[in-house]
Amino acid sequence: MTLHQRPSLQAVPAYKQGKPAAAGASKLSSNESPHEPLPSVLDAIRDGIQSIHRYPSIAAPQVTAELAALHNVDPAHLTLGAGSVEVAAQLIHAVAAEGDEVMYAWRSFEAYPSLVRIAGATPVEVPLDADAKHDLDAMLAAVTEKTRLIFICNPNNPTGTVVEAEALERFIAAVPREVLIVIDEAYVHFDRSAVRADGVELFKKNPNVAVLHTFSKAYGLAGLRIGYAISPLEVAENLRKVAIPFGVSDLAQRAAVASLHAADELAVRINEVVAQRERMYAGLGAAGYPVVASEANFVWIAAGDATADIEARLEAGGVVARAFPGEGLRISSGSELDVDRVLAALGADSAAVAAVEGAIA
Ligand SMILES: *Cc1c(COP(=O)(O)O)cnc(C)c1O
Repeated sequence: MTLHQRPSLQAVPAYKQGKPAAAGASKLSSNESPHEPLPSVLDAIRDGIQSIHRYPSIAAPQVTAELAALHNVDPAHLTLGAGSVEVAAQLIHAVAAEGDEVMYAWRSFEAYPSLVRIAGATPVEVPLDADAKHDLDAMLAAVTEKTRLIFICNPNNPTGTVVEAEALERFIAAVPREVLIVIDEAYVHFDRSAVRADGVELFKKNPNVAVLHTFSKAYGLAGLRIGYAISPLEVAENLRKVAIPFGVSDLAQRAAVASLHAADELAVRINEVVAQRERMYAGLGAAGYPVVASEANFVWIAAGDATADIEARLEAGGVVARAFPGEGLRISSGSELDVDRVLAALGADSAAVAAVEGAIA
């Protein structure tokens, strides 16, 4: 007997998680924070453990109010999910039905293609340009009457490239007003570019822009699952309908609030991650690897056919990265030790020192 199931799911692969690492190895495959949780965050979680027999508040009033104040938006625009992956799914379900199109650049965030297909919508993938950046002209040309949502992953996972503010503003102005543009800013805290587009500002200026943020990356709460959207009111209303009830635990809400209260401490950590990213980029570049300048917490090596070889050398050196066979590798920016290992494994340590000395001389 064969059960009746959705035939369309045959085209949907299960989400592939970053490879686990052996004990003692550097796990640089999932863009996680290399830092252990802050003591104040652990305290907040401990306080909440006494209440885990209760359902969490769906409205999540405290974290919602604090985020609204942080971004200077009305709380009605804010909606939460169990990680921003869930919020991305909510956004797709809110605007796209069977046969509708959801567009994004490719390669980009691994979850987009599956989320779109699970919703019954049709993915439209527009290749990145030769610099591994969003090709906004090609994306604009790919808009049809069926386009319902366009993801702009900024900075882009896995390439670390950014869409510049002016270019994004022109793009938004050219897209039909009925089409929702979602700026996925999972890595925005690591963006040091002078041309950075501010997603929340673009949301405030345009009726069809939403922003996606997460506590998983810069704030180090990947294991607790909390992310949020800031979206137009009509969209936010639908996001609340499609959200899975009680998806965001009370512990996650408490940890998020504690993290918002620890912004200064977190900023120091974020700066460290950025410094290690730059060291990894400089070292690998000096050693001749085809690295792409990154504004996220990882570096992309556009290794092409050499991907498997580089992955094997990293593994031999105690580093687990994220390899996309035939395309390249994404290596998360970890601790100083993690990056030491990357540079050593790829024979880039002496080259990096020479490059730095050359720059000083
Ligand atoms: C990691 C990531 C997310 C969010 O992850 P959550 O843990 O679900 O919040 C969202 N978008 C991109 C592009 C990411 O890389």
